[in-house]
Amino acid sequence: MSNPPVRIVPELCRGCTLCVKACPFGAIRMSEGKAVIDYDRCTFCGACVPVCKRFGAIVGDSESAVSHPAVPCGNVCVFCEREGPDGPLLHVAAELLGRARLLAATLGVGVDAILLGNKLETCAREAIAAGADRVLLAEDPVFESFEDQVWAAALRAIIEAYSPEILLGGATAVGRALLPRVAVEIHTGLTADCTELSIDPESGLLLQTRPAFGGNILATITCEHRRPQMATVRPGVLPRLPADQERQGEIVRCRVPTSLPGPILEWLDFLPRAQQDADVREADIVVTAGYGVGGPDGVALVAELARALGGVVGASRAVVDAGWLPYVHQVGQTGSTVQPKLYVACGVSGAIQHIVGMQSSERIIAINRDPEAPIFGTADYAVVGDLFEVIPAVLSHLSAAPAAR
Ligand code: FAD
Repeated sequence: MSNPPVRIVPELCRGCTLCVKACPFGAIRMSEGKAVIDYDRCTFCGACVPVCKRFGAIVGDSESAVSHPAVPCGNVCVFCEREGPDGPLLHVAAELLGRARLLAATLGVGVDAILLGNKLETCAREAIAAGADRVLLAEDPVFESFEDQVWAAALRAIIEAYSPEILLGGATAVGRALLPRVAVEIHTGLTADCTELSIDPESGLLLQTRPAFGGNILATITCEHRRPQMATVRPGVLPRLPADQERQGEIVRCRVPTSLPGPILEWLDFLPRAQQDADVREADIVVTAGYGVGGPDGVALVAELARALGGVVGASRAVVDAGWLPYVHQVGQTGSTVQPKLYVACGVSGAIQHIVGMQSSERIIAINRDPEAPIFGTADYAVVGDLFEVIPAVLSHLSAAPAAR
C-alpha cells in the first residue's frame, strides 16, 4: 500500500504502546520498540491517531481515516450469561441469540456465543440450541465468580481475536457492569438497555432502540465508526426462539489470557434467592400483586398463590410505591419486562405502563372485582371477583388436588 490513510512515523514513535491498546481490531503490534500496523487487520478507523497526539507518530489522513466506514469484520456475537456458577443459561441469552439469528441473516454472517465460566459444556450446547453457530468459550476456575476487570480482560481478548461486527449482552447486573467497561477499553460505543434491535437495510448498521427521557420517547442510536457495535438489551423484551436440540454448532475453546488481572474479591458462596423472590424476568410463572391487594396481608396471600403454583411474585408500581414490595418485583415500563408461560394479575387495573411489561406472557389470567378493568382487555382468562375470595378458593383447590398442577 503506497500511501495508507493511517501510518506510523517510526522516528517519532516512543514505544509507549498506547496505540496498541487503542486499536479495536488488534492491528497494531510492537516490533523492536516501535509500533507497526498490520494492514491486513487495520480498517483505518482512526482510533489510534488521537492517542498519539502528544508524539505525533501516527499520521491519519483525517478525511479518509476517521470518516472511513469500518469494514464489517465478523459475526453477530452474544455474550451469554448463566445462572450462578453452574446453572443453565439465563433466558436473556436465548432471547439475544434468537434476535442475533435475524440480524446475522440480514448481514449474511454467522452467530457466535461467548461464554466465560467453568465447566461450560452444557451451556455451550444450550447456546447452540438457542441459535449460535459457534460457541467461543473461555473455561477456567477463575471465571466461576464474576469479577468485572478479570472478565473484561478475557472478553476483550476474545473480541480482539474474532473481531465481531456486533456484540450484544443482557442488561443484567453482570452485563451492565461488564460490557460498558469493555466498550470503553476498546474505544467503541455501547447503547445500554435497548428494547429493540434491527439492521438498517441501507447502511447495514445496527439500529439500537431504547427508551429515553423517562420513557417519553424511543431513541434509535447507531455506531457508525467503531467496531464492534455494542448493545445491552433488557431481559424479557425480545422473543425467544424455541430451542432446537438438533442444531449443530462448533465449540471453540479460546486461550485464556495469561496476563489476567488478579482478583480483588474473595468469593464466599452463591446463594440462590428463595423461589418466590427469584428474578421475575427469568420466571416461568409470575403472580403479581396490584394495589387491589390492599396492603401487606394481601401481598402475603398473593405470595402464597405464587408459592403454590411454583412461581415468583411480581408487583405493580402502585404496590412498590406503597412500600409493600421492593422494586425488584416491579413489572412494567419502569420495572421489568416479563414473558412467562403464565402471568396472574391480582388486583391490577391494567394501566398501559403495566401492560407493556407483561403483554408478551404466553397465558394471562386477571383477577379483578371491576368487570370494566382494562386488564381484562389483555387477559386470556378473566376472573371477575374479589381476590380475597378467589385466591383462597384456588389455594384450597390446589392443596386438594396437587396432581392437577
Ligand atoms: P390501581 O390502578 O389502583 O388498580 C387496582 C385494581 O385493583 C383496580 O382495578 C380495582 O378494581 C382492583 N381491586 C381492588 N380491590 C380488589 C379486590 N378486593 N379484588 C379484586 N380486585 C380488586 N405501573 C406499573 O405497574 N409498572 C410500571 O413500570 C409503571 N411505570 C410507570 C411509568 C410512568 C412514567 C408512569 C406515569 C406510570 C407508571 N406506572 C407503572 C403506573 C401506572 O400508570 C398505574 O398507576 C399502576 O400500574 C397502577 O397500579 P395498580 O393497577 O396496581 O393499581
